[in-house]
Amino acid sequence: MPELPEVETVRQGLNQVTLGYKITGGDVLLARTIAYPLSLNEFLAGIKGTAITQWHRRGKYLLAELVGTEEAAGWLGVHLRMTGQLLWLQPGDALQKHTRVRLFFAQERELRFVDQRTFGQIWWVPPGVAVESVMTGLGRLGLEPFSAEFSVEHIARKLHNRRRPIKSALLDQMVVAGLGNIYADEALFLCGVRPVTLCTDLQLEQIESLRNAIVQVLQTSIAAGGTTFSNFLNVQGINGNYGGVAWVYNRTGEPCRICGTPIQRLKLAGRSAHFCPQCQHDSGRQG
Ligand SMILES: [Zn+2]
Repeated sequence: MPELPEVETVRQGLNQVTLGYKITGGDVLLARTIAYPLSLNEFLAGIKGTAITQWHRRGKYLLAELVGTEEAAGWLGVHLRMTGQLLWLQPGDALQKHTRVRLFFAQERELRFVDQRTFGQIWWVPPGVAVESVMTGLGRLGLEPFSAEFSVEHIARKLHNRRRPIKSALLDQMVVAGLGNIYADEALFLCGVRPVTLCTDLQLEQIESLRNAIVQVLQTSIAAGGTTFSNFLNVQGINGNYGGVAWVYNRTGEPCRICGTPIQRLKLAGRSAHFCPQCQHDSGRQG
């Protein structure tokens, strides 16, 4: 599943190639991919004749700012979910098996949405309408991990009094937006905290290390262009390479890169959690 670094990589790629081309039309091959408006004709009429001035990201949502001949023309929203991919192609290029939506641009360009599992969604938010009122998931997101507001105090406030494992709390988008299974495992390794540690048992220094680890692991992955171990492809169809350097994620039984102890895996809230039993501890009092 694409996580924040993959979505950020896609956003940067889209900003490099799609800006300024006028949208000339589209073809929706799977109706339910268009989450809003319900009428496909309304969706296609809304985006036709517009151009994208900038792609933004909020959590794992991609938001393209649209402009018409003279005025703002709303927003095009995309969520890749499990297997969604955006490809920048030419309309004559052979169709991928799971092509769901095709957006045609001037000068023989096409933005193609390919999605095997069909959970991906696309919205057109008309001008003058609040984006959060249409893309309702946006209103439930936590802070951006690279914002100044993502502070030790913020995290401490969110985790205060929660008798639940820290790993589960991290997967909860209300604490920080866009953090998924891979980077939650990696961040917990970097700060030396076990996934099962209860939020209430975390010392302030551990929360500070955790905050720094989250930022570090996401920045490393964005710099590397995303991961290799999902169906993610960037817009040019090239895999990123974070997977080659994972500390613990998907390395069950392999030696810890720091101490050599075999990496362990356990089930937590229905997801796999990977950790080093030697390098990661349950409370601030280590050893
Ligand atoms: Zn270790």
